[in-house]
Amino acid sequence: MESIKGRFAPSPTGRMHLGNAFCALLAWLSARSQGGSLLLRMEDLDPQRSRESYARLLMEDLRWLGLDWDEGAGVSGEQEELYWQSRRKEEYEKALAMLKQQELLYPCFCTRAELHAAEAPHASDGQVIYSGRCRGLTPQERQAKEKHRRPAIRIAVPEEVISFTDGCRGVYAENLARDCGDFILRRSDGVFAYQLAVTWDDGVMGVSQVVRGSDLLSSTPRQIWLQRLWGFPQPQYYHVPLLLAPDGRRLSKRDGDLDLGALRSRIGPEELIGKLAFWAGILPKEEAVAPRELTSLFGWEKVRKQDILLDGSMLDF
Ligand code: GLU
Repeated sequence: MESIKGRFAPSPTGRMHLGNAFCALLAWLSARSQGGSLLLRMEDLDPQRSRESYARLLMEDLRWLGLDWDEGAGVSGEQEELYWQSRRKEEYEKALAMLKQQELLYPCFCTRAELHAAEAPHASDGQVIYSGRCRGLTPQERQAKEKHRRPAIRIAVPEEVISFTDGCRGVYAENLARDCGDFILRRSDGVFAYQLAVTWDDGVMGVSQVVRGSDLLSSTPRQIWLQRLWGFPQPQYYHVPLLLAPDGRRLSKRDGDLDLGALRSRIGPEELIGKLAFWAGILPKEEAVAPRELTSLFGWEKVRKQDILLDGSMLDF
């Protein structure tokens, strides 16, 4: 049997927070408990939001937690470059060209206001389902519009149900046309979209297992469809519960008091790993442990399926 290859794929747009650490621990345990390897890919496509300094801190925080990886950003060697999405634009051009050849792409000139019109339907993740307005423009109409506005590139999705079994959440299915709509692969400012870059990279990098937050569950049917168009095998997916702040919001990089910078001054790495493992359902009680001590205890059947509400007492450390 091929050995498992998992991955960390953080966006270096802020300091790692508790939720990112939770997800990274599960990705690490899932791969390591099955003798698999891990790669680290920096998803720094958005130049407005990504910082190299955050990427450096991310790597340091992962190492501090005791979560190691075998290839990718921060691993010496000439290949290192290949794991920073901001340096992979030529690859993404190639990926886009393959879809263009299949005549699936079209330019979209819609403004933000047009996209968010009051009557626009929304998908389960709150995103607007695109109406397909620019899909039927004639070549002349496209040419005329191009003089005024640089278009985004969209892909035309079929009326097709994509279904898969998530290792944590069970069966999940979406009808691409009805539940998602034609989606963007390159933004009007030229930045490649997450859906394109993540699917292409997981494919060419041979990732066989994707462990990530359940906020990305609804992206997965789109990614599976793209994989099929490019001819990549489908990885196993595990969408893990989110950690919720005491008021029910999901934790984000804005919760500065729960980022690793703040946490590292209050708690040691093994204590923190112990808390995360206990919350996940892997440890029966909270105790300080190193990640490698958890590999023999880990099993997906133990991992909680529901989001985890962090009440004040859980955060009192
Ligand atoms: N880079 C994405 C994020 O940090 C995660 C991508 C993924 O795991 O597919 O939210």
